[in-house]
Amino acid sequence: MKIQDKKIAIVGGGPGGLTLARLLQLKGANVKVYERDINKDVRVQGGALDLHTESGLAALAKAGLMEEFKAHYRPAAGLMRVVDDQLTIHFDEHQTGKKEKFGDNNHRPEIDRGPLRQILLNSLEADTVVWDSHILSIERIQDTWKLVFQNGNTATADLIIGADGANSKIRPFVTGIKPYWTGITMLEGSLKDGAKTAPVIHALLKGGKLFGYGKEKTLIVSSKGDGSFGFAASFKSNEHWAKESGIDFKDHQQVLSWFKKEFSAWSPAWRELFESPDTIFIPRPQYCMPLDQHWEANADITLLGDAAHWMPPFAGEGVNMAMLDALHLSEALTSPVFSDAKQAIASYEKQLFARFAKIGQATLFNTEWMHRPNALNDMLAMFSKNKLKQGLFIIRYVIQTSIIPFARKVMGLVPARKVFR
Ligand SMILES: Cc1cc2nc3c(=O)[nH]c(=O)nc-3n(C[C@H](O)[C@H](O)[C@H](O)COP(=O)(O)OP(=O)(O)OC[C@H]3O[C@@H](n4cnc5c(N)ncnc54)[C@H](O)[C@@H]3O)c2cc1C
Repeated sequence: MKIQDKKIAIVGGGPGGLTLARLLQLKGANVKVYERDINKDVRVQGGALDLHTESGLAALAKAGLMEEFKAHYRPAAGLMRVVDDQLTIHFDEHQTGKKEKFGDNNHRPEIDRGPLRQILLNSLEADTVVWDSHILSIERIQDTWKLVFQNGNTATADLIIGADGANSKIRPFVTGIKPYWTGITMLEGSLKDGAKTAPVIHALLKGGKLFGYGKEKTLIVSSKGDGSFGFAASFKSNEHWAKESGIDFKDHQQVLSWFKKEFSAWSPAWRELFESPDTIFIPRPQYCMPLDQHWEANADITLLGDAAHWMPPFAGEGVNMAMLDALHLSEALTSPVFSDAKQAIASYEKQLFARFAKIGQATLFNTEWMHRPNALNDMLAMFSKNKLKQGLFIIRYVIQTSIIPFARKVMGLVPARKVFR
């Protein structure tokens, strides 16, 4: 199959879409990325991301961008402190340190989203990304696609790749399968000048990550290179909590009042995260695509990243999977093994379904224990030097993520839809 003959439209310029554009351009493909943001600077990018050797970093290496990554990653950003709701430190990587290095399987270096996006943007040919391209719909006209944007513009393409995230507009053209509600809501916050705005948390954070665990609630804070913090409070709730709560998330006083009530058992020091009028809050109800999802491959449209397999972020796999999808899809589309695009896409999607079934299990396992009454004990068991504690945690992991799913498969049962209440 000659990919050079096709006009490819990637919808969405997140980490998945941009990585795919780079990888395809290296193979001489004709690619445009249609991105909703009006320019590259318009949006506050979220917290730091850890890229994994076997996925995110593997894609960057193939894209020839490892040197740029090494120049921009933040070695100290991955150092984690685990605290309880009273901010007592129970585990501290600033004390124990981290020994991994590039090439190690468990190495997970951290980079801020902004610099990662910039590295990928810089790697693309001029005018690859068409900003201010909020897609409204697509229409098949004979052998081509017509893309219709909110600003009135249109474009055409032979092949569309939906990389437009969790609420993908492209996904319904590939599958009718919908995500299901997990029972958890996350309230994301982006706070400027952490040292000044939240001095107690800043001192504890020490340029790294802070994982706070209370009864059925978590609060994770991550420092960013520009001195700001990204943080997320997560808790069990109704599906439509964000609307039903009546909170105006642009009014920090309303958010603070809610936090004081909902996290009343937590040390008042946490409240400094919610006290600045400049902090931006976004409620994010957590959904997950069914782990057994699959669909018939098409010849001219497919999905990657969150658009394909949206899942909660509690295993830190979302970005890594999006970038690995990009690597696999670019390889399939440019492989001489496949005689046409449908075969290439079918092979890519088969791999994607299998990988998501596995990674999704691990993600749901984390989502569950992180919202248990004794989540702190589970977190500490994972890192414990006590082999019995660690062993019991690993046994639970194996039972829930391998043995139960295998038994259900043998018995012909669909995977359980995990809703955490
Ligand atoms: C609070 C939080 C913390 C997270 N932490 C981690 C973590 O630590 N590690 C990790 O691996 N993952 C994490 N994730 C998940 C991770 O952010 C996603 O899995 C990842 O960004 C998916 O990449 P993507 O390229 O598929 O989609 P996205 O990053 O969502 O990118 C989609 C792009 O498409 C654009 N777009 C959307 N709709 C349209 C449209 N209609 N038309 C045109 N463009 C459109 C968007 O503007 C965006 O640029 C976290 C998520 C959240 C919410």
